Amino acid sequence: SEHLWRSSVKDLEPFIPGQAAKDAKKQEKVSEVIRLATNENQLGPSPKAVEAMINAIQQAHFYPDLTCLELRSKLGELHGIDSENYVVANGADNIINLVIASYINPGDEVVYCTPTFSEYHKNTLLMGGVPVEVPTTKSHKFNLEAMLGAITEKTKIVIVCNPNNPTGTIVDEEELRAFFKRLPKHVVAVLDEAYGEFINLEKYSTGVEYIKEGFPVITIRTFSKLYGLAGMRVGYAMASQELIQPLQRVREPFACNRVAHAGALGALEDIDHKNKTLLENKREMEKLVKEFRSFGYDVEASHTNFLFVDMKRKTARIAEALASQGIIIRPAADWGYPTYARISIGTAEQNNKLVKALQEIN
Ligand code: PMP
Repeated sequence: SEHLWRSSVKDLEPFIPGQAAKDAKKQEKVSEVIRLATNENQLGPSPKAVEAMINAIQQAHFYPDLTCLELRSKLGELHGIDSENYVVANGADNIINLVIASYINPGDEVVYCTPTFSEYHKNTLLMGGVPVEVPTTKSHKFNLEAMLGAITEKTKIVIVCNPNNPTGTIVDEEELRAFFKRLPKHVVAVLDEAYGEFINLEKYSTGVEYIKEGFPVITIRTFSKLYGLAGMRVGYAMASQELIQPLQRVREPFACNRVAHAGALGALEDIDHKNKTLLENKREMEKLVKEFRSFGYDVEASHTNFLFVDMKRKTARIAEALASQGIIIRPAADWGYPTYARISIGTAEQNNKLVKALQEIN
């Protein structure tokens, strides 16, 4: 009964679980599964977050706070941007829904580069919008010049995934400022900083600074990556009052649940866990880059918690061989890069197992 569906739903691909899920069956055969396909924090959540969540679950019979006031206040202190300038929701995925549902009329164009995070495409289609996809540069960076060139009168949103998933690249800060300055008034900029906490702040600014400088930017963040709460689903948007307003109207009242809210607050308090994660990620990334290069793979250290690796031969087979040993990576063929894989940085022990397994496969 497809004729009953909202017409834009027909344009969407059914959700096809990725390699990680496809290999779920094989996982039963191995004692421990090493998940390096979805960029989680392998150190786990902060113990402070866990404690806060256990406490919060006792209050499960009460609805969560309607506006996540406590979390918004904490974020306000953290970023120096007022608590009124945030919307908290069910993961950054949900924030992407909200942004696109808030701004896109049928026929409006959304400009971004590919390969990138798939949800921009899906949500644009769902709203009857038109995805305008511009290739990334040779070094896999968002091509801001080409994005500017793709803007028309119908463009409503431009999205910069920074750092970009799956390529791990970040755009030059001055280039990004110049890009914001050149945006026509009818265009809203979205900066997806799901990996924003991994950005080296000595070298790059983030959405926090751009918002303070008054650029029309909606910045998206998540507790799924650095903060190790992917299973809890907490993400947020921050922007000027003017830009954040429609999201306040579109959002569901209780998108961020009570336990997730408490977990996010606990995670923000645990600076040690955050620093440990960053340090370990950096050290392990440097190690993996060296090892991968010794295999003849092409790879650059990224600004995230994963690597985009050219293994120089089709990665589907390699991924399958790894999966049979319980190691799950993300082949990049469906992004148009059949010899690449996106590999999350694991713990030292997990990475050593990965390197050993790859040695044997090579
Ligand atoms: N944006 C990007 C660029 C991502 O990589 C991800 C997660 N893979 C998300 C958004 C969604 O994150 P969340 O878990 O908060 O929904």
